[in-house]
Amino acid sequence: MEAMIEQAANALRKAQRVAVLTGAGASAESGVPTFRASDGLWEGHHIEDVATPDGFRRDPSLVWKFYNARRENVSRVQPNPAHIALAKLEVRFGGAFTLATQNVDGLHQAAGSINVLEVHGSLRRTRCTGCRCIEDRELEPLGELPECPRCGALLRPDIVWFHESLPERIWQEAQFAAAMCDVLLVVGTSAVVHPAASLIPIARQVHDDRPTRATVIEFNLTKTDASDYADIGLYGKAGELLPRVVERLG
Ligand code: NAD
Ligand code: ZN
Repeated sequence: MEAMIEQAANALRKAQRVAVLTGAGASAESGVPTFRASDGLWEGHHIEDVATPDGFRRDPSLVWKFYNARRENVSRVQPNPAHIALAKLEVRFGGAFTLATQNVDGLHQAAGSINVLEVHGSLRRTRCTGCRCIEDRELEPLGELPECPRCGALLRPDIVWFHESLPERIWQEAQFAAAMCDVLLVVGTSAVVHPAASLIPIARQVHDDRPTRATVIEFNLTKTDASDYADIGLYGKAGELLPRVVERLG
């Protein structure tokens, strides 16, 4: 493990541009449940019922109950050492550091990360189904059928559900960061949700603006769909391994 940590630190020492893709595992040690439950349910619900536009049309109050519970849970948790290590890494690389996250909990920002691309939206924002306005509501309680303060229509979470496309500008920035980086850190993601996971093969492509592909470093408890693409695999808790790599950097 020590040798792998040194290899990872070494790749980062040589890197000019760094990109990161995080998933639910980055927040697991904060106490936010990850997503792939072995029984195919998400906290007791079928995914189609709580995380698709059809589910919301069928039963918006069930969907809001689910998201209100997630919001309440996130209001009780703190960033963990994995979030903090990534915020420290950004200080070192400044504007040459981009963190794309599939997480919707806002814990990277709470840890001090600045250049965060929320490719799946945020639990902290609402989007109006009528006038489409997006509002930052942080984690205040919203009730079961919250209404838009401007037009009175039903609000929905500003989250990207299954069968929906990613926010265009944010997704373009994430792809650009993956295409231009020298190192991509893949942290706590099962890498099965697309297109987010496609940032990993993008980081390995060569093109005129980046003749050498990026080094991909995976941090996860176990091997995943991303492991075949990883040059370095650090298997264990991200909250323990990421700080060790960042400390090793000096
Ligand atoms: P996932 O639940 O599919 O995968 C989590 C991964 O994290 C697994 O590979 C697991 O082995 C790994 N992991 C768990 N604990 C870890 C730890 N301590 N250290 C390192 N790795 C650890 O999550 P995903 O890949 O992000 O995809 C799930 C989807 O669900 C995304 O679309 C995301 O938007 C959503 N989601 C978000 C949150 C959140 O905001 N925190 C939580 C659950 C789900
Ligand atoms: Zn409205």
